[in-house]
Order: sequence, then C-alpha cells, then structure tokens
Amino acid sequence: MSHLFYQSKSPRPFLERGEGIYMYDVNGRRYLDGSSGAMVSNIGHSNPAVLAAMRAQMDKSTFGYRLHFQTEASEALATKTAELSPRGLDRVFFVSGGSEAVESALKMARQYKLAIGQGSRFKVISRMPSYHGSTLGALAVTGYDPLTVPFAPMMHEMPKIPAPRAYLDGLDINDPATGLHYANMLEQKIIEEGPETVLAFILEPVGGASTGALVPPAGYMQRIREICDAYDILLIHDEVMSGGGRTGKFWGADHWGTVPDIISISKGFGGGYVPLGAMIARGDMVEAVLETGGFQHGHTYAGNPLACAAGLALIGEIESNNLIANAACMGDLLKARLKGLMNRYPFIGDVRGKGLLLAFELVSDRVTMEPLAAGLSAYQRLVDIAYDEGLIIYSRRTRGGLNGDHFLVCPPMIIGEDGIEEIMQGLTRALD
Ligand code: PMP
Repeated sequence: MSHLFYQSKSPRPFLERGEGIYMYDVNGRRYLDGSSGAMVSNIGHSNPAVLAAMRAQMDKSTFGYRLHFQTEASEALATKTAELSPRGLDRVFFVSGGSEAVESALKMARQYKLAIGQGSRFKVISRMPSYHGSTLGALAVTGYDPLTVPFAPMMHEMPKIPAPRAYLDGLDINDPATGLHYANMLEQKIIEEGPETVLAFILEPVGGASTGALVPPAGYMQRIREICDAYDILLIHDEVMSGGGRTGKFWGADHWGTVPDIISISKGFGGGYVPLGAMIARGDMVEAVLETGGFQHGHTYAGNPLACAAGLALIGEIESNNLIANAACMGDLLKARLKGLMNRYPFIGDVRGKGLLLAFELVSDRVTMEPLAAGLSAYQRLVDIAYDEGLIIYSRRTRGGLNGDHFLVCPPMIIGEDGIEEIMQGLTRALD
C-alpha cells in the first residue's frame, strides 16, 4: 500500500526522469508529455538553463522570508513580470500555485474596494462551467458542481453566468452578435444581483480544464470590459493556465487586446520546475490598499528566491528560443491535424483552442452535440490506451457531470513537427 493519497485510484508508473517533451518511467518506458503534465511543463523537462539557474541560486540561498529580506531573484522576476504585463498592471505579488494566485486576486479586489469606500461590494461573478482553484475562496467562484456542492455550506457561493460555449448553442463564434449575446448575460446578472453588491468578474481568457480550451466569440472580451467599466466592477483574468505563452501570446487576453485590473498566473510560470505563481495588479489599486493598512494576505513560501530564480530563467528560455512564436506555429499545425480527425471519427464533435492550448470533445451526435453515450468509460479508455501508446493526454468531464468528455492536447512549447506527428500517431491508434 502506498501511504500517499490522491484522487486517482489506478496506480501510475513511477517516474524516473524527464527530458524535453518526453518522460521516462523506472522501467525505461518513454511517454510523450502531450499535456505538459497539467499544462505546466511549458518549456519541457530538464531545461539546462533553468536547472543551472536553480543550482546557482541554491548555492547562495534557498529561502529568505519575504518580511525579513528582499532577494535579487524576486526583485528581478517581479520587474520582468511587470514588463510583460499590460500597461498599468505593474505590481506583482508572488505565490506558490494557481489557487493561491486566484485567492490573492479575490482578496486584492475586496481590499481595494474597501480602501476606496465601496465595502458593500463582495460578490464575484464567474462562469459556468469554470475552474479557478481548490481553496475555498477560489472554489466559491468555480462553476463545477461536483467540486463545489459538497463544500457549499462552508463558503458563500458566488453568482455564475454561462460560459460562451457557442459550439453547443449552434452560434457562430466569428459573429460579433454571438459575443454580445454571451457578454450581455454579465450585465443582466449584475442588475439582478444589485450593482452595489458586485465586486468583480473573473474569467479565463482562453478556457482550461473546465471548458476544454474554450475560445471566446468575437467581441466578447471587449464587451465584458465595457460592462465592468460601466458598473465599476473589477475584471480579473485567471491566466493560471492561459498565461505564459502557451496560447501563442504571452497572455491569453493579448489575442483580443483587453486589459483586466488583476491577473493571476501559475502553471507555466514555474514550468514544472518550482511551485510558483503570481497575482499582478494595477499600481493605483495596490497603492490604495497599502495606504489604508496594507494587504492583509500572504503565504509563507511566497516569492522564495529559488522559485523566482527558476521563473526568471524560464522566461529567459522562452524569449531566447522564440517559444511563443513556436507555440503559435506548432499550435496551428496541431489544430489542423486534430480537425482532420473529425473526418475519420464522427464522435469527435469539436476541436478548439489557441496556440498549444487545444482540446477536442467527444459527442454521440454532431448535430445535437449530445455527449458521447459511452461517457465515462470512453473517457477513461481513451486516456488509458493513449498511455499504452506512450502518449499522455489530459481529460476532463464537465458537461452534466460524468458525460461530455473533452481532452486537452497541450504539449510543451518546444515541440517540433516530429513531435506533432508522434502525437497524431499515438492519438489515432488510441481513437481507433
Ligand atoms: N485556475 C485555473 C484556470 C486553473 O486551470 C487551475 C489549475 N487547473 C487553477 C486555477 C488552480 O491552480 P492550482 O492547481 O495550481 O492551485
């Protein structure tokens, strides 16, 4: 018996090592990391520059409590992160993961509104389905009943609007009327809740696990920003998964040019090397909070120099190897190849995403888009067979609980054409 426990009941092989886009188990079997873990290992495994930066930092110090010491590593990563962020978002608060990054964003929003005399605002509107993290605050804004319902009495469950799943509603994602249709649901919800009680709206610019790489329809992001401005509501972009370059731009929202008030990032920010995340906020908001008693929030390991040194080297690798451009280019190729599978497999109902944040969804009928009747077993079998083929893909179920399975295909941003070919071969054998 293993003394470790996680959700999965089925044992997985023991990991020996990772290198580039591949991982090897203790028996020497090779797996192509087709999901970068959980969309984390963006620059691949065992990157020499990141490991060297970590070793160099380890020789100096691995921890300095942030209230006792500043460190060069955390200063440098904060400066770099602010440089990469949209104009005005120039203050960075480090954390150790995605849930902490979202939790920090929610608390920053609340403390800012308190600081400017808008303490009646506490509701954070989010989308259904969505996933924003496992801590109780981040869970309160998560739109996924199997995860939230058991804990409902322990948190104030927040209002939700439908995520813009145009492909399920038979609407054209390129038609601006579609964007308006879904975005205006936010305005209706704000009015219903009472604008003076609404603090913020949180969304993933390109959806992750909960929606399977959902791309917003034309005009959606812009209209959401307008509505937030009109009602004095803060806009939080959860870029925990979409941030860091995977979509083909550093921030997912860069595809639409919209600027939020707060961003959270993690996953690819630590890239599988270190637990690292950040909450990035508008400078004037942070000043207002600091002037009125300070930000009452923090995590012990936040901003530790080892994590920050790794994070900085990782961004250096992305920049010096043009990995964002590669993600865009390889993403287009992989998406076209995945779309090609729709000719062969009638049960693939949709292929979507941006850059290397891609997904396909299984349905029993492409017209009605009913989830594949085989549901859970099909989902598990596909993952298991792909595994046997030496390919790791990431699966999630959100439509109506156990059915409506989708699969994320999100290899590291260093992948080349050979790697894409290998993914397609493994996937085709598994789908067959
Ligand atoms: N937000 C989003 C969009 C995520 O995808 C995740 C993780 N899947 C989280 C938050 C939570 O991150 P973590 O698991 O690192 O706490």
